[in-house]
Amino acid sequence: MSIAENLEYIRHQITEAEQRSGRPAGAVKLLAVSKFHPQEAVLEAISAGQQLFGENRVQEAVSKFPEVLASHAGTELHLIGSLQRNKVKSIVPYAGCIQSVDRYELAEEIIKQRRKFLSSGTAIPAQLKLLFEVHTGEESKSGFTEESELCRTIELCRSASDAGIVCSGFMTMAPNTDDKSRIRASFKSLRELSRKLQSQYPDLPLNELSMGMSGDFQIAIEEGSTMVRIGTAIFGERNYA
Ligand SMILES: *Cc1c(COP(=O)(O)O)cnc(C)c1O
Repeated sequence: MSIAENLEYIRHQITEAEQRSGRPAGAVKLLAVSKFHPQEAVLEAISAGQQLFGENRVQEAVSKFPEVLASHAGTELHLIGSLQRNKVKSIVPYAGCIQSVDRYELAEEIIKQRRKFLSSGTAIPAQLKLLFEVHTGEESKSGFTEESELCRTIELCRSASDAGIVCSGFMTMAPNTDDKSRIRASFKSLRELSRKLQSQYPDLPLNELSMGMSGDFQIAIEEGSTMVRIGTAIFGERNYA
């Protein structure tokens, strides 16, 4: 199947899952995860109407996306993988969203780099959305585990709206297991945390819930996901060699 056919099929499955779970049509956005796939694959997806893309490594993202973003208005790059502080300045000129904010020090560096670029007059995206990654499954290593630390980080980012920082919501990875009840529990716990923090910070648009991948996106949509991150089911298996 071609990338265009895969996209059409996934969009259809997303629509069905929205209907099944009583969610309004269009409630769930599709992020196409293009890691390990070449720029041509990204361009093919863009031709098929895809605009949101996810990459998990900075080096790969900056080798693939600058030209794509410059020549295709409306295309948006999300960083979804764990991010080292020394890589932040390389991704800030290109990212519309960083979904993997998983510690205070990382948020500090993101804000610092945004301010630097802005004060030097370098063209960067007007806004940078941040999603706070939360640890909800035993296997995954990344994500906040302490709510107090998460809140401290949200409060830091809230004070950086002058740098175009927008606190947009939360991201998680479910445990890598066949046990659907554990996957569901992981998504449910993020939804509950998100509800709680939305009422704690009513001034922030913390409504994005990035959860669900190729193998578990239907469950994620049933549990309130607003963005699914799909790689394999769009672009095929990744060749890690
Ligand atoms: C690779 C990756 C995905 C996509 O995984 P698939 O199973 O290929 O759909 C989603 N989220 C993150 C954080 C990833 O690293």
